[in-house]
Amino acid sequence: MMPPFERARQLTAARSRCKPRCLRCDCRDTGAIECFGHRSSAIVAPVATGRAEMRTVQRPHCIACGSSGTELYKDLPDRLFSAPGTWTIKRCDNTQCETLWLDPAPAPEDLGEIYGDYFTHGKSDRKLSKAKRAYLETRYGAKPTSATDRLLAALFATRRRRKMEIDDQVFHLKRDSRPQRVLDVGCGSGDALWTLSELGWETVGVEFDAKAAEAARAKGLTVHVGDITEQNFADASFDAVTLSHVIEHLPDPHTTLRECHRILKPGGSLTMLTPNAGGLGHRIHKVDWMALDPPRHLNIYTVDSMKRLVADCGFANAEVTSSASGSDRIAMTSSAIRKAGHADLGAKPGFLVKRVARLQHALQAGLVKVNGKLGDQLVVKAWKT
Ligand SMILES: [Zn+2]
Repeated sequence: MMPPFERARQLTAARSRCKPRCLRCDCRDTGAIECFGHRSSAIVAPVATGRAEMRTVQRPHCIACGSSGTELYKDLPDRLFSAPGTWTIKRCDNTQCETLWLDPAPAPEDLGEIYGDYFTHGKSDRKLSKAKRAYLETRYGAKPTSATDRLLAALFATRRRRKMEIDDQVFHLKRDSRPQRVLDVGCGSGDALWTLSELGWETVGVEFDAKAAEAARAKGLTVHVGDITEQNFADASFDAVTLSHVIEHLPDPHTTLRECHRILKPGGSLTMLTPNAGGLGHRIHKVDWMALDPPRHLNIYTVDSMKRLVADCGFANAEVTSSASGSDRIAMTSSAIRKAGHADLGAKPGFLVKRVARLQHALQAGLVKVNGKLGDQLVVKAWKT
C-alpha cells in the first residue's frame, strides 16, 4: 500500500494543478487556465494513468450537515484530465445546506491517480508593477500611501477583473502596524505568499508537492512539505491562515480546519476561497460546470453549508460571501465541456466564446452586488475568538 504521506503528497500535487492558477507558473493572476504573462504558451498534456478503474469508497452523507443526498449528476467522466472511471454527484437534501459531493469517491489509496504525471511549475518572474504595488499598498498595506500612489491605485481598480484577482491573491488581508504572521495552506509555488511578504507579512507555507515547495523556497520563502497536521505548529502562533481552492479537495475538512483554529491567535482570521455550488455559474452551466471537476472536488459547498462547516470547527462570526472572480474562465471551460465533453485547458478560446464569457463575468459581478450568494467563488472569512 502506498504510504499515507506519499498519497497525501500526490493528492495535493494534483489539487494544486486544478486550482485556478496559472498552469505555467502557478501564480494566482488567473481564473482557471493561465496567467496574463503565460497566456500564449503551451500547456503540458495530461498523461493517462493506465488504470481502467479506481477503487472507491461510499460517502452516503453530507460532510457539512450529515443529511442524506439525492443524485444530481450521474456517469460523469473526468472532463479536464484523464482520471479513470465515471462519477456521481449528490446534492444534500437539507435545503439549508445543499452541498454537492461525490458518492462514491476515489478510495484514499487511489487518490494519487486522480491525475497523470505532469509538471506544471515553471520559473516565473516575480515583480510587482508600479500600479499593482500602489494598489496593494493603498488597499492592504499598514502605512498611508502618497497621493500619487492613491491615484495609481484608483486607476488600477478600474480594471475590475484584474482587481478581483489581485484581491484574491492577497486573500483580502489588511495589514496593521504590528508584526503579523500568515500561513498559506497549500501554497503551491508561493506566489501569493511572495506578494504578502511584499506587503510586510511574515509568511509561512505548507505544501504537499515537494517540487512546488522547492519553487517557493527559491523565492526566499519558508515552506514546509506535508500536511498541516504534521507540522507541529505552536498553539496560537499565526495571525492569519489562508486556503485557496484547497478545502473542496479534502475528504476530512474538519480535521484541517480544527488545526487551523488551534494555531491561530485569538482574533486571528481564517480566509478560504473555494467554488460555490449555489453560484450563477452552476445554475447556468449545470452538469457542464467546470468547477464540478469530478473526481477531484470531493465536496462543493454553498454559502450556508460553509457557514456550518467553519462554525463546527470552532470559528465564530463567519462571513461567507461570493465573488465573480475567475468566472469568465470557468464559463469558457464549461462551454468547451458542453460542446466536446472534455476541455483542453491549453486551447485558445475563440473571440466569440471569450466575449460571451466576459459578458457572463460582468453579469455575475453585477448580480453579486444584489445577491451575495451568486458568485462562482465562495469567499470565507472567519475568526477565532
Ligand atoms: Zn448538507
